[in-house]
Amino acid sequence: MSLILYNTLTRRKELFTPLDPGRVTMYVCGPTVYNYAHIGNARPAVVFDVLFRLLKARYPQVLYARNTTDVDDKINAAAKAQGVPIRTITDKFTAIYRADMSALGVLPPTLEPSATEHIPQMIAMIEVLMAKGHAYAAEGHVMFHVPSFTGYGQLSGRNRDDMIAGARVEVAPFKKDPADFVLWKPSTPDLPGWDSPWGRGRPGWHIECSAMIEAHLGPTIDIHGGGHDLIFPHHENELAQGTCAHGGKTYAQVWMHNGFLTMDKEKMSKSLGNIVTVHELLKNAPGEALRWALLGAHYRQPLDWSDETVAQAKATLDRAYRALGEVWDIEAKSNTAPTALTEALEDDLNTPKAMAEIAALVKALNSAKDADEKARLKGELLAAGTLLGVLQQDPEKWLAKDLDIDEAWIIQMIEARASARKARDFKEADRIRGEIAAAGIEIKDNPDGTTTWAAK
Ligand code: AMP
Ligand code: ZN
Repeated sequence: MSLILYNTLTRRKELFTPLDPGRVTMYVCGPTVYNYAHIGNARPAVVFDVLFRLLKARYPQVLYARNTTDVDDKINAAAKAQGVPIRTITDKFTAIYRADMSALGVLPPTLEPSATEHIPQMIAMIEVLMAKGHAYAAEGHVMFHVPSFTGYGQLSGRNRDDMIAGARVEVAPFKKDPADFVLWKPSTPDLPGWDSPWGRGRPGWHIECSAMIEAHLGPTIDIHGGGHDLIFPHHENELAQGTCAHGGKTYAQVWMHNGFLTMDKEKMSKSLGNIVTVHELLKNAPGEALRWALLGAHYRQPLDWSDETVAQAKATLDRAYRALGEVWDIEAKSNTAPTALTEALEDDLNTPKAMAEIAALVKALNSAKDADEKARLKGELLAAGTLLGVLQQDPEKWLAKDLDIDEAWIIQMIEARASARKARDFKEADRIRGEIAAAGIEIKDNPDGTTTWAAK
């Protein structure tokens, strides 16, 4: 069986061939830690976690680095607004991010480098770029000179005008070319800064990832990933810096990008203000249900998020856990996932197909007659679950959570919905119904005007 991955750089599916099968390397751009991650931010973490699991099943050593950006203008603004050092903000939100991802069944990456711990490596890389004629210092800044790299634009496929417009480039008098981007910028005394050959300053965002990749994984990595919005300018710029710093060596063999998570077909993003945080979602649904919902669409497709998606995911997992619960006392006989499931994942991470295979296994388990068949199917289901990062809990515990229903909360919600309907605020009434559904509760409006509820 071979692993096929879609490469954004070549715009086609390719056979994955690591440079060194004894040491596979993957880097995924992680969060900027200044507030709660929304469920869209969790999509790359979960998608690349599935890839990490798949790679680990195939190769003896997989080095997976996911960074945290812990110096950034948005962090600086948050620290200033609260009158605290940036570390207070970044430590807090790094811890929250890790806890949230763990609740979603995301394995800790092999490495979690943070930008502020790699300033000397960034400075060294900038010096190499200057020495090779790809960067220049001007007015306390160091800029990457885009025309010095003929391969610029190959990843995003953008032409020069698009690139300049897309980057919303600042027109600065010290720029030799409007497309040139910042490697280093000066800091005023009230901002975080580090001493450098160009004065006290701080790094640009793109150089952070290139320096951390070089430091931990080497000049060429096998897989570089992130959300679709990172293709330009972030990854285009990373590719330019990395390639130029390493004398033209390939920077990343395969570039992978997940599609957007949307709400009402609009991208979920902080700037649009349509976000739902993982933190909030976890109050009403188990992390595993959120994970299942995130994997329900192929990673390159958009995924529209709603309470209904979560409720369905929860119901599907309930079915699987019920089936597992029936055979919990039987010793599993296989520890291999069905071939059809592995093949689905190996075909550019076709998680919807893999999940359909899990549903088929559950069905087969429910109708299995003899103990031998049950033992085999149980083993296959658990192995399949390990690959997808689901079904690893004790079924009794999972199902018991359903019984641990907060009746007072449900009644309160039903009352809130009734008063919203009375006020003819049907949008709010529907939202409340969705929230109740996401908690695994089905409500029924009876002809006599009462509303009753039951666990799904
Ligand atoms: P940020 O903290 O904004 O830099 O984003 C962290 C990661 O989440 C990046 O890989 C982004 O591309 C990704 N991301 C942000 N918004 C979404 C979204 N709505 N859907 C999917 N991925 C997203
Ligand atoms: Zn990055």
